[in-house]
Amino acid sequence: MIPFQYVRPKQQKAAIDALARDNNAMFIAGGTNLLDLMKRYVVVPQKLVDINQLPLHNIEQLNGGIRIGALVTNTALAEHKLIKEKYPLLSQAVVSGASAQLRNMATVGGNMMQRTRCYYFYDTALPCNKREPGTGCGALDGVNRMHAIFGFSDKCIAVHPSDMSVALAALDATVQVSGPKGERSIAFTDFHRLPGEQPEKDTNLHKNELITSVFIPDAPFARNACYLKVRERASFAFALVSVAAALDISNNSIREARLAMGGVAHKPWRLFKAEKTLKGMPVSEASFRQAAAVAMEGARAFEHNAYKIKMAPETIVHALKTAAGIV
Ligand code: SF4
Repeated sequence: MIPFQYVRPKQQKAAIDALARDNNAMFIAGGTNLLDLMKRYVVVPQKLVDINQLPLHNIEQLNGGIRIGALVTNTALAEHKLIKEKYPLLSQAVVSGASAQLRNMATVGGNMMQRTRCYYFYDTALPCNKREPGTGCGALDGVNRMHAIFGFSDKCIAVHPSDMSVALAALDATVQVSGPKGERSIAFTDFHRLPGEQPEKDTNLHKNELITSVFIPDAPFARNACYLKVRERASFAFALVSVAAALDISNNSIREARLAMGGVAHKPWRLFKAEKTLKGMPVSEASFRQAAAVAMEGARAFEHNAYKIKMAPETIVHALKTAAGIV
């Protein structure tokens, strides 16, 4: 392990200043991904700014929605009464991620900031444009069974690993951040980036910005929601494909739908066009199959992940049927 400085500020401004003072500093909260990355020399920060003492641990009911502090643990989030009642989709998504031990440590902000689990990214002997820009993408012509079918570039075909973020993207959440230039709010669907020419950048955070909270607006999706994750074992496995589905149903007709997929792109993949397709349609498997077909437009597979092209629409249909209670 390479030596690094460690500071533990108690105030937000002090944390941001501590980060900004050092070009190679990083925030640490639960550390469930960052410490793995450091042990493998994938990232080598000279300073860690431990933010665990900042007052960002609360979940609050506000006018028009719920604010979740960035340091709320995944366990506290999934088990919170308000989240279970109003956003069961989010609770289901969080519980489907990682293991109980990791969820006890991992935070909301850290979950959003976790890096891809692409094997090449974690092996410093192999080429990876995300870890070391300009070295090439090992997965493009290598082992790519876990990789993207949407939104990739010739520089990177990795997927984002978070389940929680898929649900938050579907629920129209916004991310509050604070930095040297003040505070701002980012739509959750704009928080993570597609790889394009700069796969080393996972998010649209500006330099030295800190995630402070996530806001989820009130929405009528508590009754009919389902997070369905297809994975290789029942726990502690990343999604091959996952679907966050939420419906507002009246008289067997769909008033509104929210749909997003995980395991298929470099960011949570919101299915806006499929949502529009569902609006006004009857609750039926035929409607859901039509939406799934729309959702899959533009999908493209690599050598080892063609199974996702078949798996994804079936997962969408099954998640929508479960959300609607017609399984
Ligand atoms: Fe690196 Fe992305 Fe290629 Fe994986 S897919 S090797 S993360 S550039």
